[in-house]
Amino acid sequence: MRRKLVLGNWKMNGSRVDAHSWAAAAAAVAAATANADVGVIPPVVFLDVVRAASDSSPLWLGAQNVAAYDNGAYTGEVSARMLAESGVRCVLVGHSERRQVFGESDVVVAEKYVRALAAGLTPVLCLGETLEERERGATDAVVLRQLQAVIDAAGAASLSDAVLAYEPVWAIGTGRTASPAQAQEVHALIRSAIAKHDAMLSSLVRILYGGSVKGSNAAELFAQSDVDGGLIGGASLVPADFDAICRAANQDG
Ligand code: PEP
Repeated sequence: MRRKLVLGNWKMNGSRVDAHSWAAAAAAVAAATANADVGVIPPVVFLDVVRAASDSSPLWLGAQNVAAYDNGAYTGEVSARMLAESGVRCVLVGHSERRQVFGESDVVVAEKYVRALAAGLTPVLCLGETLEERERGATDAVVLRQLQAVIDAAGAASLSDAVLAYEPVWAIGTGRTASPAQAQEVHALIRSAIAKHDAMLSSLVRILYGGSVKGSNAAELFAQSDVDGGLIGGASLVPADFDAICRAANQDG
């Protein structure tokens, strides 16, 4: 049985005061949900605030980005080693905003994935198709290509130390959620692709769904057999909404 995981991605939002109150609320729900893991992914400059507000809580601390390089002359970047030393447990790689706005290719995403693993971080590998790709029937090919890039770089066995997140780009921040059946179909596809390498591993890897998850739709998404929790954007900025989503995961856990 896979334990559900809910991660709140704050993106580039909030102040230090907000970070403190959002983290305190998330730490409280993390402590109250014995059947599910909960984490928050603040902007990197707020990591210390979140750490202080969630001291001795089971809350996972995540980062939104990581350098594709080890320490060195890369002005403006933050290495996986630095994140690990700052108490970070997991890091997003391949989020659609990084792929689309910042032009990160599958190769760059795979390099970041490798760096994260080498530093002992859990990469949260985001996969997902655009609306145009879905409409021309390319969803499966896109998601499998994105997955294959990290398997080529790090091997399928590396997935045992990773979390996957299926995030259809057309559902991120749009209010348009994938239906439970649409999410389940792609999650099952991802799991069966991993099973071709290792059936046991495929049954253990957690695959989160992300894209306009709210308190009102979380339970039906999390009830799908291959949906192991959520990657939550907008709703993670509203403690009552994030709380409701985490409790839905806990119910299903
Ligand atoms: C995200 O940022 O990964 C995300 C899923 O955002 P939202 O929940 O706002 O759609």
